[in-house]
Amino acid sequence: MTSPSPPLALSVVVPCFNEAPGLAELHRRVCEACEPLVGSRFELVLVNDGSTDATWEVIGRLGGADLRVVGLDLSRNFGHQLALSAGLEFARGERVLVLDADLQDPPELLGAMMAKMDDGADVVFGVRERREGETVFKRASASLFYRVLEGLAETPIPRDTGDFRLMNRRVCAALQAMPERQRFVRGMVAWLGFRQVPLPYVRQQRFAGESGYPLGKMIAFALDAITSFSVNPLRLAVYISLALFAVSLLLMVYVLVSWLFFRAVVGWASLGFILAFLGAGQFFVLGVLGEYLGRVYVEAKGRPRFVVREVLGARGEDP
Ligand code: UDP
Ligand code: MG
Repeated sequence: MTSPSPPLALSVVVPCFNEAPGLAELHRRVCEACEPLVGSRFELVLVNDGSTDATWEVIGRLGGADLRVVGLDLSRNFGHQLALSAGLEFARGERVLVLDADLQDPPELLGAMMAKMDDGADVVFGVRERREGETVFKRASASLFYRVLEGLAETPIPRDTGDFRLMNRRVCAALQAMPERQRFVRGMVAWLGFRQVPLPYVRQQRFAGESGYPLGKMIAFALDAITSFSVNPLRLAVYISLALFAVSLLLMVYVLVSWLFFRAVVGWASLGFILAFLGAGQFFVLGVLGEYLGRVYVEAKGRPRFVVREVLGARGEDP
């Protein structure tokens, strides 16, 4: 049924963290979406990001029954963005579709995305018009995050856009040539330029399993995004010091007036207030410096971005 000889038209890359219950359905819906468009000239790259459930076993089973499935087992949990990067590195298709394993991004939109690419787009990215079945907190925090990022980032990054996108080979190659380790993929793709076209869609409910993004991971993700795409927080120190300078000018007037016209000792209360204020400001600025310095340190170490433990059925080396 499968013949690996003609060049692959499409790779579908899916990072998977504890997604065992939904993978069979994902495989079914991806195949159903791809077959009418490219026949069997596609591959489904499933990246197991150090899952603690049976995800890798399920990928093995799917790969055993369908040679179009490529399994990639990372040596531990590297996080969504790195798992995705690993999958992109292994993808061989002329076009690459990035999907979430939980079917929140409907694979059925592939047809519409391919059509836009046929019309000349290099990237077609999904824009979430609505989000179904997500908590109020998730929606509010996501909305806040995208707006803060928009305000800070030097590269315009489209709002309410996830990793659900179709890219052509040129864009993929350019993305792989970016060496950084802290990878906020959607921002990096935006930075690349090319002809990028949005496709509005309704984000579905998670099909099975649970979100792999607890609050801690979400904060780390947001910090990576902001520090990768903006140095403005570093400039905060300058803004704060300007504000403090203005306040201290007023204070000098106050001290001078009380020294000239009143005998009163200038109060310890205001002194305490100033100390606390300055202390907090300094710590905050130190924190901002630390965030960036830490990232410079991580990049400087130059470690590989991810480590692959095992590959299943990839790169045309079919039996
Ligand atoms: N994911 C991953 N590694 C992680 C966390 C998540 O590969 O450490 C995958 C997950 O399996 C899914 C995608 O990233 O395919 C998005 O994660 P999730 O659906 O949990 O996030 P949410 O939609 O809740 O933001
Ligand atoms: Mg999800």
